[in-house]
Amino acid sequence: MTTLGHLQELDSTYVMGTYARKPVGFVKGSGMELYDTNGERYYDFLSGIGTVNLGHCHPAITEVICEQAHALGHVSNYFHIEYRGELAQKLVELSGLGGKVFFANSGAEANEGAIKLARKWAHANKPGASQIVTMTMSFHGRTLATVAATGQPERALPFAPVMPGFTHVVFNDIDDLAHINPESTVAIMLEVVQGESGVWPATHAYLAHVAEFCAQHNVLLIVDEVQSGMYRTGKPFAFQHFNITPDIITSAKALGNGFPIGAVIAGESVCDTFVPGDHGTTFGGGPLACRVALETLSQFESFTSGENNIEAHVEWAGRYLRTRLAEIIGVENVRGIGLMVGFSLGTDVDMDASAFVEAMLSKGFVINAIGGHHIRLLPPLICKKSHIDALISAVYAIIGSHYDIEETE
Ligand code: PLP
Repeated sequence: MTTLGHLQELDSTYVMGTYARKPVGFVKGSGMELYDTNGERYYDFLSGIGTVNLGHCHPAITEVICEQAHALGHVSNYFHIEYRGELAQKLVELSGLGGKVFFANSGAEANEGAIKLARKWAHANKPGASQIVTMTMSFHGRTLATVAATGQPERALPFAPVMPGFTHVVFNDIDDLAHINPESTVAIMLEVVQGESGVWPATHAYLAHVAEFCAQHNVLLIVDEVQSGMYRTGKPFAFQHFNITPDIITSAKALGNGFPIGAVIAGESVCDTFVPGDHGTTFGGGPLACRVALETLSQFESFTSGENNIEAHVEWAGRYLRTRLAEIIGVENVRGIGLMVGFSLGTDVDMDASAFVEAMLSKGFVINAIGGHHIRLLPPLICKKSHIDALISAVYAIIGSHYDIEETE
């Protein structure tokens, strides 16, 4: 029998210490539920960081993984395979971008692809321009280019020299767009809901100004949908809540419901920029990943909860979760779209986000601390009223005991 102590010992001895892991080891999952090494059940309100959107070990996904593993696991991108073209067609249609897709293995790799695509596009369409402008407090990945793109210098500086070619403007600050040099700029890249920094949605006015700037100055608009895409906010992609049309979007995380896959989806004016030899990957777009992603999309499309399809369900569940959270004294600044939800612990609550997450864990709920007093919730999209009610009761119980208020549930 696996014990937590054994897992901790192996991790600390042999695995690089890039994460401060919580003292729990998970061995099994099903839908909203995770089970630890002692057989204890947890409700997962993090989904492997916005990834297992259909829930853990979804039977249809598990079935196609097994079937495809028996049929064909990997060949290479030198050959035609089943599922890749069909998946690309679906993504092009779902995004409304027209165009074509490049498949990668992760969010960072998809963003690297988008950056390369934009830079090469500029050689023919905007000679001399090379800057990619991104937002303060953004997050685009951990590779050298995406860490430079990420608008949090502390994430790049330990690996100096930081890759040149990226500048940052203040997120949601229309006036700060005036600091962008239109001549030298190839693309503006942003998340329409910033996830890693605490779930901060862009305003409609801000995105309208960004889109106008891009159109006026022949600047590409790249939207990073790695976390916000795949119905996390209710729509297939979060930008679809706003009146903008990106030139390029990137996807990963929930695209394979936990099976690694990333994608660069580029509109018609950009999508033929790469020619053979420009870009590639050994694993990206393989038959197993593409089949799993196709099945994931098909499950989103056929999802129903009562009378609701996926979009209506996520909209309802997100609104219910935010409304219930906002009723709790000590919970402040509840924000987000759909089931991408953030909130802050009030200054009167005498615990920080990390202590709060551990307290929730001890009550059987997996949530996420974004430093300081900010909390992020990204439950599987299948989450029901009963799961939300259970989470709310736990929040009341913890905050109440730290804040001298009565539990009202
Ligand atoms: N972009 C965004 C918006 C993300 O949230 C993340 C990961 O959290 C990434 C990119 C990087 O994705 P990956 O960890 O798959 O490389």
